[in-house]
Amino acid sequence: MKLAARMEQLPPYLFLELDRIIEQKRAQGRDVINLGIGDPDQPTPEHIIQALQLAATRPDNHRYPNYLGSPQYRRTIAQWYQQRFGVDLDDVEETVGLIGSKEGIAHLTWAMAGPGDVVIVPDPSYPVYFTQAVLAGAEVYPVPLTPANHFLPDLATIPRDVRQRAKMMWVNYPNNPTGAVADLDFFQRAVDFCRQEDILLCSDLAYAEIGYDGFRAPSALQVEGAKDVTIEFYSLSKPFNMTGWRVAAAVGNPLAVKALGTLKSNLDSGVFTAVQEAGITALTSNPQDFFAQQNRLYQERRDIVIEALAAMGLAVPPPLSTFYIWFPTPAHMSSSEASRLFVEKADVVLAPGSSYGAAGEGWLRISLTCPTDRLRTAMERMKAAYSQF
Ligand SMILES: *Cc1c(COP(=O)(O)O)cnc(C)c1O
Repeated sequence: MKLAARMEQLPPYLFLELDRIIEQKRAQGRDVINLGIGDPDQPTPEHIIQALQLAATRPDNHRYPNYLGSPQYRRTIAQWYQQRFGVDLDDVEETVGLIGSKEGIAHLTWAMAGPGDVVIVPDPSYPVYFTQAVLAGAEVYPVPLTPANHFLPDLATIPRDVRQRAKMMWVNYPNNPTGAVADLDFFQRAVDFCRQEDILLCSDLAYAEIGYDGFRAPSALQVEGAKDVTIEFYSLSKPFNMTGWRVAAAVGNPLAVKALGTLKSNLDSGVFTAVQEAGITALTSNPQDFFAQQNRLYQERRDIVIEALAAMGLAVPPPLSTFYIWFPTPAHMSSSEASRLFVEKADVVLAPGSSYGAAGEGWLRISLTCPTDRLRTAMERMKAAYSQF
């Protein structure tokens, strides 16, 4: 049996070697702490679970859902954008429900780009932008995110022939994996660039509600006229500790929203209506208090990690959002070498930066989605092990 040729286009899974070591260690009875995965450790708030329980008992919810999201869910998303960002959206033309942002990110790529087209992707970044472009037969143009440019893409460096063939450009702020944030000025420049070059600006706003030291993330759609060229992905996964539930939305440019809806209704049948109802409860039951409490928790963890790294001589500025700390490997080691050493000598798993793109080489990512006492233990172990590197 031979797989489709496109499967060979996928990059090797860089966690493979790490997974093998972790398995080996656990088999030896070692207590491995995983700081590699970005997945909230805290439970979904109780009132959201109760909303699902109630909605799950109603027989009309047991049938196929509305493919593009229920009218109530889409209205709620539009109202949320108005209330949270001051952005007006038409719920029918400018919103579509998604089975998580990942689904929408993948399918939008198939709706927008194919052979001969270019997709502009930040490097490092969430791997789905890259892998889906490659699977769809498009060419990827990586734009490096470095400390020198505050982890923002330098749009002026994108060559003319790339601009001409580009169909989409991904931006993700607050950023995974670097923890960087963007202000409205940056989004204004991105919108201007995409308007000038006739490119769809694709904004991934997965970490909108995480903010420290008073920071609140803007939406790209706050830029005047952004909707002409911008689609944005908003997910309930990270804000409400709902990664397992699979519920999100894409909003903005009506042409792109419609194309995504058309493509996905040929592939899936939407989000379980009871989950959409729970999503409505999440967004309409005064979530600000919950966000504040969650942010305090992550901020405490952020400070533990930042302080420990500084003590190891690996100081980085504290990020203003996301639950990631992005820092250079010690002693100019490669990402995979450094992550292998930390797992071998400290039983602590970190994500190698190189798994997010070539420009991530020489970096590591710590995720703060681990109980605070375990995170403290992990940092103590890393400090002790580091002195023996
Ligand atoms: C977690 C994450 C997503 C995926 O979110 P889902 O809605 O759970 O699919 C998308 N983009 C980025 C940058 C993420 O970190």
